[in-house]
Amino acid sequence: MDLKRTHYIGNLNASLKGQKVIVGGWIEDLRELGKLTFLTLRDVTGVAQIVVVGEQGLKEVKDLNRQSVVRVTGVVQETKARDFPLEIKSEKIEILSRAVHPLPIDPIGRLESNIDNRLNARALDLRNQKTAAIFKIRHHVLQSIRKTLTELGFIEVNTPKIIGSASEGGANLFSLKYFDKQAYLAQSPQLYKEQLTLGLERVFEISSFYRAEKSHTVRHLTEFTSVDIEAGFMDYLDVMQVLETVVANVFEHIEKNCISEQKILGIEVKRPKTPFEKITYTQAIEELGKEGIALSQGDDLQDSHLRKLGEIHPGFYFLMDWPMKLKPFYIHEKEDNSFLSKSFDLQYGYLELSSGGRRLHDPNKIRARLEEQGLNTSQFEDHLKAFDWGMPPHSGWGLGLDRLMSVLTKIDNVREVVLYPRDPERLFP
Ligand code: ATP
Ligand code: MN
Repeated sequence: MDLKRTHYIGNLNASLKGQKVIVGGWIEDLRELGKLTFLTLRDVTGVAQIVVVGEQGLKEVKDLNRQSVVRVTGVVQETKARDFPLEIKSEKIEILSRAVHPLPIDPIGRLESNIDNRLNARALDLRNQKTAAIFKIRHHVLQSIRKTLTELGFIEVNTPKIIGSASEGGANLFSLKYFDKQAYLAQSPQLYKEQLTLGLERVFEISSFYRAEKSHTVRHLTEFTSVDIEAGFMDYLDVMQVLETVVANVFEHIEKNCISEQKILGIEVKRPKTPFEKITYTQAIEELGKEGIALSQGDDLQDSHLRKLGEIHPGFYFLMDWPMKLKPFYIHEKEDNSFLSKSFDLQYGYLELSSGGRRLHDPNKIRARLEEQGLNTSQFEDHLKAFDWGMPPHSGWGLGLDRLMSVLTKIDNVREVVLYPRDPERLFP
């Protein structure tokens, strides 16, 4: 059977009037009106009205369920229908695949299904234009990030996800049997990307990472997509600038390239004002103090504190210069105050989108920090070797792609913007 189509439905236009075309897609609706049958046919680009004339045509489509897949050969003609600019008068309908009813969810979204039912039937859920729009936008986000980082001289890399020892300490690691050995799923590419600055200077990776956390929030998954960069010869302010550019360009790219998707989702994406506000941890503590939340230097910011800060700063802002003791072993201290670190989070209101900073590149300082944090230095000796081979001073960050998507689409739950989300409860489909 020939599967070729001459046109995507979205590419049909008035200049094709009178011309024979072959389109294919999913039947979204089917109405009989006397001797005419009207089909609404959708492919990934758009929707068209198909008119089937006469008894014979009717017989062909009568027992077809919605969401069945057909290929239609016909002639483009003007239409009286308000919802369609054009229609196709069918000459031949070939049934390629029959949908079996009842379907688990209404894929058109006329009947609302709850998120669990939709995720259980995710492939079908993508027939809903709202869901499809999210993932078309996600594709554009990835394209934009790759373009910006490439233009800034970063090289895309792939680091292992199966690792032999805990990269950032033991907590939150999934372990797995690796033949007769014990292995883990990577929580981040941290150690690898740092090592790679030695040979490639500026690297980035976009990949899934894994955290064995029993978090039940709208912003945590056990498998999430992270955008990571690491750059030799850059300090933390430099990589903050890179992050700001990456994020602002994403918004601009979506603003310009995803016009119909924005309409479908009822959102209006705009390039955010730059530069993003920069607030130090110390300032944040003071601001919270004025709001009646008494914190002392060195206290971590809890969810409720971040919510309050998010009320004061509803958009993008950097939260920087965190106390050393709140940061991982590889973070560099501030030269003028060794109690504080060259670190930052990028926030959107209460939501943390990214963490980063300047890294230590002196292996002895790293060993001291590992000990201070009660980590086993011998587990890191493989990694530390590279620091004797000419390790440039470097900085980097990790940006949660799913959280960025959620900010961009104004959809709170990251499960909505991930195709097959994994959380402590969900392992299927
Ligand atoms: P949080 O405090 O929100 O749990 P984190 O500080 O533990 O995040 P980092 O280790 O700093 O996370 O990871 C960098 C970024 O990766 C985060 O800012 C976030 O955007 C994203 N991220 C981390 N963990 C998750 C997760 N479990 N689910 C989704 N995104 C995550
Ligand atoms: Mn963080």
